[in-house]
Amino acid sequence: MTGMATLEEAQARDAADPLRPMRARFALPPGVIYLDGNSLGVLPAATMARMERVVTREWGQDLIGSWNTHDWIGAPTRVGDRIAPLIGAAPGEVVVADSTSANLFKLLAAALADRPGRHTILSEPGNFPTDLYVASGVAEFMGATLKTVPADRIVEAIDADVAVVLLTHVHYKTARKLDMAAITAAAHGAGALILWDLSHSVGAVPVDLNGAYADLAVGCGYKYLNGGPGAPAFLFVAERHQARLRSPLSGWMGHSAPFAFGDGYDPAPGIARFLCGTPPILGLAALEEGLALFNEVDFADVTAKSVALSTLLIDRVEQRCAAFGLELATPRDPAARGSHVSFRHPHAYALCQALIEDGVVGDFRAPDILRFGLTPLYLSYADVWQAVEKLHDILEQRRWDDPRFRVAMRVT
Ligand SMILES: *Cc1c(COP(=O)(O)O)cnc(C)c1O
Repeated sequence: MTGMATLEEAQARDAADPLRPMRARFALPPGVIYLDGNSLGVLPAATMARMERVVTREWGQDLIGSWNTHDWIGAPTRVGDRIAPLIGAAPGEVVVADSTSANLFKLLAAALADRPGRHTILSEPGNFPTDLYVASGVAEFMGATLKTVPADRIVEAIDADVAVVLLTHVHYKTARKLDMAAITAAAHGAGALILWDLSHSVGAVPVDLNGAYADLAVGCGYKYLNGGPGAPAFLFVAERHQARLRSPLSGWMGHSAPFAFGDGYDPAPGIARFLCGTPPILGLAALEEGLALFNEVDFADVTAKSVALSTLLIDRVEQRCAAFGLELATPRDPAARGSHVSFRHPHAYALCQALIEDGVVGDFRAPDILRFGLTPLYLSYADVWQAVEKLHDILEQRRWDDPRFRVAMRVT
């Protein structure tokens, strides 16, 4: 229980919230309660000024000299080093590049090549689609197999043929959080590497890759990190593996001396070997502004508020909406979940549409999931309270029955 029994108590909690000043640092649209920051984070106000500067001054005026004078060339590792403390990585272990999907491809291929004689990528059914698609594609190209086993049986399924275990730390639908340290240890015990997808974790829940002795990780820049639509993603390779693992995409930015213009490929000594082509400077600059906001807060406040917001949402839905057939799809134990909360409902799609019409933006995941992302930097307890009141009213008025919401399912 949250100790918030009335809207006034939620507002009092907001008044005492150490993260309260952060809300004004975001360009939140008026009249909207945005519960979708786990899908596309909100625009930080400073990003607008940074974009203006990068475009008009750095690109417009300084042109090609900016690769040096504004350190464009250093951006992938510089921004990677800003992500490192959020995921328990050391400087030099994280680089920002490409998309999460492309980074999955690079690291899965590197892992398979590093474990000769092993031919299985092990994952779970229902993992985020791109993870499974990329894993099956890599497996096909490299003569390996993708095997999926439910997460609660994954440990016993790591046999002598498994080269790499690929798991998403916080599940995109249910928010179920896996035990990173235990599963990593099990993979190592069986001689396999582990690759964690942190897309739904980074910036919202505590992650300690080196504490778990993890090998590899990838994650998203546009969710809780607020890097903007299609922001470049990141990848982590533990320092102890960097000299050995090779990227299958041996592009010139991963070369030890890209500007020597030689014919032969020689990978950079550190994490930069996992770069491929010219870095997307506008996207990196936007992501850097999103990350800068995390420098101003105590991350323990972020994770504590994530738990408090999600607990409030669950409690309020159960108090106000119990009669309407919503089924909690997210673990009740805060230690076992990430920073979003999902409910199953036969009319989840229509409910989501009615909520959006009323200014509460959550999202729908087929076939029956209504999902609410709880972003501690810019959401208030009163937001969560009011969102649940709107949900209650929609259910009570049977607004999901509105023929306008009975259209064919949207592709999301
Ligand atoms: C959002 C997300 C992705 C996104 O991959 P992109 O290549 O950026 O489209 C991948 N994996 C997981 C688990 C995600 O939640």
